Amino acid sequence: MQNCIFCKIARGEIPSEKVYEDDMTLAFKDISPKAPIHIIVIPKKHVANIIQASKWPDIINTVVNAVGETAKIMGVDKSGFRVVSNTGKDGGQSVDHFHFHVLAGKIFDEDFG
Ligand code: AMP
Ligand code: ZN
Repeated sequence: MQNCIFCKIARGEIPSEKVYEDDMTLAFKDISPKAPIHIIVIPKKHVANIIQASKWPDIINTVVNAVGETAKIMGVDKSGFRVVSNTGKDGGQSVDHFHFHVLAGKIFDEDFG
């Protein structure tokens, strides 16, 4: 998508701090981290949200795999991490390109805000 910020990052038109990349996915540091470790994991193909992504099993598989690879690279696969996908207006989604937030480096409580 032409004007999508995450598509621009996937195309290399906007710089990002890459953590992991494969043919179908990219993981990069969030520009405004909400935890000591805060990584965004996206499919390179533009899909708007998790509902659209669910129509593409390859995307779900590879993005979930990329979450695991990201956790290993960041050294939190054993200690643990939180995965979030804000969806739509009430979910607080600000970028309409499906993504997982991988949050780690602190102990999360049960309050999802
Ligand atoms: P959401 O609000 O769930 O759609 O998440 C969008 C996330 O993208 C926010 O946490 C932003 O801080 C992050 N973000 C926006 N622009 C950039 C960028 N250029 N590089 C890295 N992260 C970004
Ligand atoms: Zn996009």
